[in-house]
Amino acid sequence: MAWDFETEPEYQAQLDWADEFVREEVEPLDLAWPNMQFVPPDENLRRVIDPLRAQVRERGLWATHLGPALGGQGHGQLKLSLLNEILGRSSWAPLIFGCQAPDTGNAEIIAHYGTEAQKKQYLQPLLDGECFSSYSMTEPQAGSDPTQFTCRAEKDGDGWVINGWKFFSSNASTARFVIVMVVTNPDAGAYRGMSMFLIPTDTPGINIVRNVGLPGEPLGEGHHALIHYENVRVPDDALLGGEGQAFAIAQTRLGGGRIHHAMRTIGLAQKALDMMCERALSRRTQGSLLADKQFVQGFIADSYAQLKQFRLLVIHTAWAIDKHNDYRKVRKDIAAVKVVMPAVLHDIASRSLQVHGALGASNEMPFHQMVMGSYVMGLADGPTEVHKVTVAKQVLRDYKPSDDIWPTQHLPKRLAAAKEKYAEFLDHEVGNL
Ligand SMILES: Cc1cc2nc3c(=O)[nH]c(=O)nc-3n(C[C@H](O)[C@H](O)[C@H](O)COP(=O)(O)OP(=O)(O)OC[C@H]3O[C@@H](n4cnc5c(N)ncnc54)[C@H](O)[C@@H]3O)c2cc1C
Repeated sequence: MAWDFETEPEYQAQLDWADEFVREEVEPLDLAWPNMQFVPPDENLRRVIDPLRAQVRERGLWATHLGPALGGQGHGQLKLSLLNEILGRSSWAPLIFGCQAPDTGNAEIIAHYGTEAQKKQYLQPLLDGECFSSYSMTEPQAGSDPTQFTCRAEKDGDGWVINGWKFFSSNASTARFVIVMVVTNPDAGAYRGMSMFLIPTDTPGINIVRNVGLPGEPLGEGHHALIHYENVRVPDDALLGGEGQAFAIAQTRLGGGRIHHAMRTIGLAQKALDMMCERALSRRTQGSLLADKQFVQGFIADSYAQLKQFRLLVIHTAWAIDKHNDYRKVRKDIAAVKVVMPAVLHDIASRSLQVHGALGASNEMPFHQMVMGSYVMGLADGPTEVHKVTVAKQVLRDYKPSDDIWPTQHLPKRLAAAKEKYAEFLDHEVGNL
């Protein structure tokens, strides 16, 4: 019987260290250097973050999103999940532990599909924390439906020429390279006609037209690039995986990315719940603590239960990824995690905001970022609705239609079958009457 919810003592000690380290050393970076995580650090900032990263490396907790077989130092998704829930409390923590999105997903596909030369050029610097990367898939006119993509690479001699637009390519302006998904063969259909290319961002023709920000960031500033690829010439060996492989690669890329977001979201939602409880025990109104009001108790109970369910779903899915080592076999649960995640963060952060009253709605508390973050979680790596469709389709695969007009569980039908099965004994009972 192998089901066990205990963490082995050695790894628990690592988690305890990470918990205190993030609280004491890393969370202050969020306030001292906000929104600077994906800006290449200057010398001054390096003097702060390099020693922190060195401590993480010494503990063996650096870049643990990939296992040794893929060039990382990880111990699987379950252990990563327990670590990521700690890191999710802080915007800087994933950077200090070398496991930030979107670089983790990008590293994963290079590790899986890259050639040795590509791994050396792109993966190693990424795993060493020497550079950032960007994933360029969404287009201005099409995001959740990749069959509508039009950005195109055409064969030209011993290379390709790329033309088209991409939207919301996070961190492209500070990344060393982009992974772009483009149409290479329009006649082959969307699922076999697209490919991915690894391209250094200083390649001529990669024009960042503007950076789009999230609420709170000034217009024209942000981290999500609108890119015009204009006659971008790349060699054949810029192809990641084979020609026409983009859909298969994207599933690997997004499978990992989605579950990692979920792991961190547990930490953020727990932080919102912690704040709710502290405030409930600190604030008095109309003769009693907020903690004594039934509405507030309802907020706390609902939040605790919602978070507990979500955490179990995430941890179980992480465990299943480790067990099967194949995202396709866990697709249903990853999609379910993606469906549940935005609502969990939204609900718990909103309740916590409400319990803090006006202060909660102010810019002196972090709730607006959390609530906005819940909407981001409902869009980035695909919208909730599309994932619901995936869950439903995957669930339905395990079922077949009823073999007549009545449902299998129709009571008259089952009663008739039961009577037939036990006819001998039922007749006997009747006979004894
Ligand atoms: C913070 C952030 C970072 C991002 N980073 C990146 C990145 O680095 N690289 C990248 O390529 N992209 C990135 N994206 C883009 C993201 O992947 C897309 O926003 C997402 O795939 C949805 O595409 P869309 O925005 O074009 O919405 P659309 O495809 O226009 O969909 C809009 C809405 O329509 C509804 N809808 C869509 N399809 C269905 C359906 N089948 N059934 C029912 N309803 C449906 C949903 O409500 C959906 O939200 C990022 C997005 C955000 C918010």
